[in-house]
Amino acid sequence: MVGLIFADGHVHSNPIKGMGIATIGKKFRDAGGWFMALVSLPPHSLGFNNTFDDYLKTFEVLINECKIAKELGLKVMCFAGIHPSAIENEISRDSKHGGKVLEKALGVVDHIAKLIREGIVDGFGEIGRPHYKAIPEAFVVNNIVMMYTLTLAKDLSAPVHLHLEQGGEVTAIDIDKIARSIDIEKNRIILHHLDVVTAKASQNRGFIFTIAGKYPILKECIKSLKPMYMIESDFIDDPKRPGVSSYPWDIIENQRKLLAEDLVDEEYLYKINIDMVIKLYSIEPPF
Ligand SMILES: [Zn+2]
Repeated sequence: MVGLIFADGHVHSNPIKGMGIATIGKKFRDAGGWFMALVSLPPHSLGFNNTFDDYLKTFEVLINECKIAKELGLKVMCFAGIHPSAIENEISRDSKHGGKVLEKALGVVDHIAKLIREGIVDGFGEIGRPHYKAIPEAFVVNNIVMMYTLTLAKDLSAPVHLHLEQGGEVTAIDIDKIARSIDIEKNRIILHHLDVVTAKASQNRGFIFTIAGKYPILKECIKSLKPMYMIESDFIDDPKRPGVSSYPWDIIENQRKLLAEDLVDEEYLYKINIDMVIKLYSIEPPF
């Protein structure tokens, strides 16, 4: 197992209400982690509001967390976004005035584009569509924000973490059509937190995605998917909601367990944890 190091394809940290990256990053690194894609939380998770200014505060927290992670010796990609649930929440309270929510969201996306241009953050994420039943107006606003973000991502050659409904074939077909119409490179789009059915449909269309690093899900994915995806904890660092996602060190533990049980080989894990980081983010491992 010498040489095997692990990546977390999508993780959050909350230095205000949770452990923060100083603790998470250290535990992850000590467990064998080397890379993480650190993604902004919705403002309310940090005790902020959904105003434009509070989004900026949220991104300041993220940028500082990314800096701390790098100081711990981790390689990091830093993603700022507008979570579809935050938009959904606002629209659901006043569905007739979605225009204002949209305008603010597009302004936030423009600000993220500026941060990317200045090299302060690396990509957009997460943005996209709710994975749960939402009112149609919320779906529409999120979809407009997603299309706009993908257009900017194409111009900036920046990666995007898309949060989507788990619609199997139809989700993959739709994103494929959108990617073609925007003419964005497919490996700029990372479909986040896919279930196995949607993952298979997406892999057939050449998309890259992240899979939750829980033991039964990994076991299933290793059996049925080519090692052209990444594993994520999607840890939300919320002490009030433990178990909603995995701890970043648990996804490492689960992979080691599958390796010990001979359910996966080292080459497969090497591809997922190292080759994919090089391919998607042009980040080289520390050896
Ligand atoms: Zn997430």
